[in-house]
Amino acid sequence: MKKLEDYVRCIPDFPSKGIMFRDITSVIQDPDGLKLAIDSMIEAVRDVDFDVVVGTESRGFIFGMPIAYALGKGFVPCRKKGKLPCETVTASYALEYGTAEIEIHKDAIKPGQKVLLVDDLIATGGTIEACAGLVEELGGEVVKILFLLELAGLKGREKLAKYDVTSLITYE
Ligand code: 5GP
Repeated sequence: MKKLEDYVRCIPDFPSKGIMFRDITSVIQDPDGLKLAIDSMIEAVRDVDFDVVVGTESRGFIFGMPIAYALGKGFVPCRKKGKLPCETVTASYALEYGTAEIEIHKDAIKPGQKVLLVDDLIATGGTIEACAGLVEELGGEVVKILFLLELAGLKGREKLAKYDVTSLITYE
């Protein structure tokens, strides 16, 4: 039987030279890969006490939404700036070149809510750190952060030292 990591495709020099991109489209386009990935992520958080899933655009939507659905929770999208129609809170974070901004609707997280953050992959940790900051700005509590993949060499976990972080597959 194939393991989860067998479904992840590695694309050298994408999006730029020297980067080894871990492609998750090869996981989700395969029915067995999709089921294994989602089921494994659900099992990783089944015993966690949380109220709502926040997923980051866009691969955090792919994995976060079915987890929320399966466990009977709501789903909140953390989107790139300018996409959400109502009042938002915004955070900027560093990219390799320049900065990016992400947003959450102000009324999406209620004070005291326990939040599970989901994304496909942690690299430097900047994206999820910014997302966690938005949740906290709205009074939410980040009780768990879940990734399918972790690029451990980029030390993103160091930015998330105060959180409970789980990755299902780790690359050195
Ligand atoms: P970070 O902010 O941790 O440096 O980068 C993580 C974000 O970039 C995630 O939202 C993730 O989707 C995307 N990302 C960066 N590198 C990769 C990669 O190799 N594969 C995939 N699937 N996503 C990546």
